[in-house]
Amino acid sequence: MISVPSPWISTGHLPTPEVVGHLVEEAHAHFASVEEGNVATYIPALAAASPRSFGICVAATSGASFNAGDWAVPFSIQSLSKPFLFALVCEAIGEQLARDALGVNSTGLPFNSVLAVERTVEGLSNPMVNAGAIATTSLVPGDDAAAQWRFIEDGLSRFAGRRLTLDAEVYQSERATNCSNKGIASLLSAHQQLWSDPATAIDLYTRQCSLLVTAQDLALMACTLANGGRQPLSGEQVIAPLICRRVLAVMVTAGLYETSGDWLYQIGLPGKSGVSGGMITVAPGKGALATWSPPLDEAGNSVRGQLTAHFLSERLGLNLFDSLPSSAS
Ligand code: GLU
Repeated sequence: MISVPSPWISTGHLPTPEVVGHLVEEAHAHFASVEEGNVATYIPALAAASPRSFGICVAATSGASFNAGDWAVPFSIQSLSKPFLFALVCEAIGEQLARDALGVNSTGLPFNSVLAVERTVEGLSNPMVNAGAIATTSLVPGDDAAAQWRFIEDGLSRFAGRRLTLDAEVYQSERATNCSNKGIASLLSAHQQLWSDPATAIDLYTRQCSLLVTAQDLALMACTLANGGRQPLSGEQVIAPLICRRVLAVMVTAGLYETSGDWLYQIGLPGKSGVSGGMITVAPGKGALATWSPPLDEAGNSVRGQLTAHFLSERLGLNLFDSLPSSAS
């Protein structure tokens, strides 16, 4: 299908800064006392996270941001790197080729499922689960692993609008324990769905997951996806508007793994979670919400993150499926 640029677009704007700021504070006060969920322990370094940590940031496409709690505390990005790396790879090789190589359909399976590869004859999953994300990393351009790492580090930093650095302890900890991701990489390779050698793909993927971000970084990164690919503070056009659309579509499909349907039913927006407790929610044209709270539900999604996204999506009028009856009808 030919993509025709249109002057009409289905977005609105956030309420006034006073309203947004007040609601962000209210959400923090409301959910800070929630005690459900467990901190991830399968990566030993993540087990040290405090279950009390809780930060919120809403970044508007205007560049304004609204913060509460631990919004400036760094933590490893983990799976929240996936949509941004997919975006960078789409930009580098073309979104159609990326789709054909990686798949864009929901697996309905947990984030680290090995079955996600075996599920179809081709071995395709989608870039939001580990299998598809490892395959995405293997598509990163570069003559060697060092060049590929520069592409990843530079690209994710351009989304954040500042230089991101590695948490060496988290990287070493995951590197020493990521047997099932290594199994996924071998299976992908057996299905001819990996475009570098498995060891390189796994090392780069593990590094990318260990980059440090704050809730504010994540809100600005996600806001770039809400803003036609332009970073709201630096003004850099990181990816094309069409790629934003593609990335947000895959986030809707699989951003919360096997509970993506429940998320969409309740919140009505593209979202993505990660095992260190980060979560992003994108309101196209308006802005983005990022939260950080380490206790997770059974599927690996932050409990306070989901509550905050629900609360703010309702009160800020963000649900993509909302409409009011026309006064003309
Ligand atoms: N590095 C983590 C893994 O591969 C990321 C998973 C996640 O955040 O959901 O297991």
